[in-house]
Amino acid sequence: MTEANPHTQKRRHFSQKVQGISASGIRHFFELIANMDGCISLGVGEPDFVTPERFTRAAFNAVLAGETHYTSNYGLIELRQAISAHLERLYGVRYDARNEIVVTIGVSEALLLATHALLDPGDEVLVPDPYYVAYPPCIVLAGGKLVPVPTTMERDFRVSASDLEQRATERTKAILLGYPSNPTGAQMRREDLAEIADLAARRDLVVISDEIYDRLSYGLPHTCFASLPGMKERTVLLGGFSKAYAMTGWRVGWVCAPADILEAMMKIHQYIVMSAPTPSQYAALEAIRHGEEYTQKFVEEFDARRRLIVSGLKDMGLTTFEPKGAFYAFPSVRSTGLTDMEFAERLLDEEKVAVIPGSAFGECGRGHVRMCYATPRPLLEEAVERIGRFVARLQ
Ligand code: PLP
Repeated sequence: MTEANPHTQKRRHFSQKVQGISASGIRHFFELIANMDGCISLGVGEPDFVTPERFTRAAFNAVLAGETHYTSNYGLIELRQAISAHLERLYGVRYDARNEIVVTIGVSEALLLATHALLDPGDEVLVPDPYYVAYPPCIVLAGGKLVPVPTTMERDFRVSASDLEQRATERTKAILLGYPSNPTGAQMRREDLAEIADLAARRDLVVISDEIYDRLSYGLPHTCFASLPGMKERTVLLGGFSKAYAMTGWRVGWVCAPADILEAMMKIHQYIVMSAPTPSQYAALEAIRHGEEYTQKFVEEFDARRRLIVSGLKDMGLTTFEPKGAFYAFPSVRSTGLTDMEFAERLLDEEKVAVIPGSAFGECGRGHVRMCYATPRPLLEEAVERIGRFVARLQ
């Protein structure tokens, strides 16, 4: 028997925190389809539209004019002022551009800042399940504990104050809401949010509200959580440019919060990021000042596609709730007799359509698949046809 050489033996050098999170179930599917010809992907959650040229030009012009330096840690003051005006115009909520807004590297960074600035080890965060894939890692890496709060298709995947309260303990520090929802497309009604606001006030909780899909709401007007009476003081509001302005690759978003929480987040942001990319901030400034007509067009087109996919899924006999926001359909595939994982794998294999198994988004996603309809209409029609063929063969 050869003895282990102490010089070549290696401990696992990565932390228990990292071991405590799993790789995204979505990434697995991206890798599978990377080299697959003729595959239609309903997997990736991003607009198919290219960023409007006007925004891109603004970035180029700024760079050519010498704007190649760091900005303020908080972000360009003009951009913060524009974000402040935008939120006031849409929702009547007022944030001070000087000390209540930070421009971030997308909502992704904003989530990391919020969780790290708020949570101590063992603090619990109530999160409606199914949830966006980045919520668990952000909470776990911050030392917190995600407490899933089940939601169901029968109740349109909305969460109620009493669902949340049932799972609250004395360790509960925050509620993390993401509406309109990725992956379900659920949107909340103002009256339900008002009850959650009461709960937050009663139990002295912070609400982290991820409103990245706020503009993509079909029929139900979006309620900004911070605009509810008394809520600005206990809300960390996350928003961004990725979805409403087709700017995923620019990596720019924002976080708004009361000045003391913002300063806590700033302590992290200034060391890990310094400032969001300067060219992207100029593109974002153009978008928020002059992008409304593009957003309107995107929303109109997404809405048409939403109706197309929902009626297609219903026609093929899959139970589907009507998504009221974002750009995802989340049908149940239980009637096919397959698990969500089997359904996604076989659909990819047999019909070359990529969808994401719902269990990637938490226990309550099990038995569903997520289909992103931010896909050009001809491709979406073709995808619906292929899925229909696949489902018919299973019957
Ligand atoms: N939050 C939700 C719910 C998302 O779906 C996404 C992206 O898919 C993000 C945050 C991250 O967005 P960003 O591109 O602004 O980092």
